[in-house]
Amino acid sequence: MNSIERHLAPAGLNQVTDYLAPRCLDEALQAMADGAATVLCGGTDLAPQTESGMRQYKAMLLNIRRIEGLGGIEATGEKVRIGAVTTISEIRRSPVLAEIAPVLVEAAERFASEQIRNAASVGGNLCNASPAGDMIPPLLVLEASVELACWQGGAVQTRRIPLERFFVGPGKTVKLPQELLTAIVFDRPAADFVGRFRKSGPRPALEISTVSVALGARVSDGRLSDVRVAMGSVAPTPLRARHVEAALEGKPLDAATVAAAVAAAAEDAKPIDDVRASAWYRGHLVRVFVEEVLNDVRGN
Ligand SMILES: Cc1cc2nc3c(=O)[nH]c(=O)nc-3n(C[C@H](O)[C@H](O)[C@H](O)COP(=O)(O)OP(=O)(O)OC[C@H]3O[C@@H](n4cnc5c(N)ncnc54)[C@H](O)[C@@H]3O)c2cc1C
Repeated sequence: MNSIERHLAPAGLNQVTDYLAPRCLDEALQAMADGAATVLCGGTDLAPQTESGMRQYKAMLLNIRRIEGLGGIEATGEKVRIGAVTTISEIRRSPVLAEIAPVLVEAAERFASEQIRNAASVGGNLCNASPAGDMIPPLLVLEASVELACWQGGAVQTRRIPLERFFVGPGKTVKLPQELLTAIVFDRPAADFVGRFRKSGPRPALEISTVSVALGARVSDGRLSDVRVAMGSVAPTPLRARHVEAALEGKPLDAATVAAAVAAAAEDAKPIDDVRASAWYRGHLVRVFVEEVLNDVRGN
């Protein structure tokens, strides 16, 4: 950055001495190897956080947007792969996902505004690790895993972690500073797999979720199987709602089952009071959303 750019740059950027926008993954991972780079994708979380002083840039700013192979949505055989830099707009417009994982498209529909969706990446949403991250509950019900890559021993090393084990607290994941999230992968859902997503807010698409709920299940002869339910903003990390799942698994999807699932939601959701909502309100919303998604699947 020259002296004029430095003068015009937002204050937080003054800490940056190097900027790199590589096209090749090897180059990016080598630059990250000592853990002294800040990864930039869409910047829709990073910029507000650095500008507010919540976090600081490291000496190198590494823009990952141009790296070949980190974008795109592919469904080959039994596997679906979404590159980390894929934007929320690309997910929203994806005919592939609309056909095989519409719950992701539904979450993308309700995500921020057009401008934010065009910049925001799915990888950034996961790495930011907000309990309110909207792409997380739908990916949890798809039982997705994340691919993490780093440079070690003169080569790219990758590991795969189930998304459910990725988050360890608000803003915290098991990803190491020298690792890049390269992709999200999940098995192609069965043909009778249905998914639904709900998030709160008077203007849902521009609201950070007060509570979100995603449901995924196979529906056959009026019964649910392979049931997966995930919730956001009801605990320090997004979670799988195992009590709700148990109340639904193998059961006929009737009013009694819906009532049992709604009651079980109180076992899974352990919300807190904060500036955006009280614990009581979150507990109430989560029960409403569980009921809504189930009634939606029942066709009521
Ligand atoms: C006005 C506004 C509205 C918003 N509305 C919503 C909403 O409705 N729902 C919602 O969930 N979020 C919302 N957000 C938050 C934000 O847009 C999302 O979390 C977005 O997906 C972040 O992606 P990004 O590419 O912008 O990430 P960045 O800001 O570039 O990065 C986020 C974090 O992840 C790291 N990172 C990014 N990509 C990788 C990677 N591949 N590997 C390793 N580390 C990485 C960065 O270093 C940084 O720490 C909103 C933000 C704004 C400003």
